[in-house]
Amino acid sequence: MEPTYEDCDGIAVPQDTIGGIVLPPLSNPTDTLNKIMRNTNLSEAQLAKLRTMLSRFLSGDGNERWACIHKQLYRHMASNNLKFDFMMNSNNLVPQSYNPVTSTFSFLNDDSFNYPNIFEHEFFHAFQDMFIATDTYAIATSEGYPDGYTNIEFETAVFTDLLKTNTVEYGAFMNADEELREDYSGWLNLIKDNNKKYPTTFDDFQGRYNFFLKKFQFNSGYADKGQILLNMKPVSLLEVFFNFSMQINPMKPS
Ligand SMILES: [Zn+2]
Repeated sequence: MEPTYEDCDGIAVPQDTIGGIVLPPLSNPTDTLNKIMRNTNLSEAQLAKLRTMLSRFLSGDGNERWACIHKQLYRHMASNNLKFDFMMNSNNLVPQSYNPVTSTFSFLNDDSFNYPNIFEHEFFHAFQDMFIATDTYAIATSEGYPDGYTNIEFETAVFTDLLKTNTVEYGAFMNADEELREDYSGWLNLIKDNNKKYPTTFDDFQGRYNFFLKKFQFNSGYADKGQILLNMKPVSLLEVFFNFSMQINPMKPS
């Protein structure tokens, strides 16, 4: 039997066209948002800004590799009929946030829609939630932060850092000393083989994932935010990159 291939939009591609694929245009932005939206209190003007940010996110702001990976997160939600609330919340402490208990994206103000890079972080949190149900890990109570909270944040930081090609932009250890930042950069570059691949199994982390998770806890502001769970693997990240590796994608040589 002939193997079948999919492109980044999940469309079957005949094998003989590999290398010459052109991504079809995204569907109408209104439909794209509506497919994953449950309730909203955004004004029409704010919805327009949100649609623009979602379009930028799904087109990778012109970077085909990012587009392919972001669309995969989105397609998981759209094709499984998973829906979210999109709400303005002037009490937000940050421009954007995602609450896994209520499946809600919250935005502080109109300026919040100018940051597709923050949306990438929050959208990945939504994907984690849909993939492994992160409700019990993500929300602090009066008793403090739950165990595993730091795991969820570190996985998200590694995901967004793996997508970057400029080591200066790696965010997980932004405030750590230079030695640690260089160690982390070197590790990511090794895993990615100079941006030629992404990790698809836990072994691909070369045995250092939990080492950096522990460093993250104490060097990136999570020392007082619950215990880290050393048995909790970054399965959401691995799922995304495994599926990406199975598709016809912009990383594959033509
Ligand atoms: Zn986060």
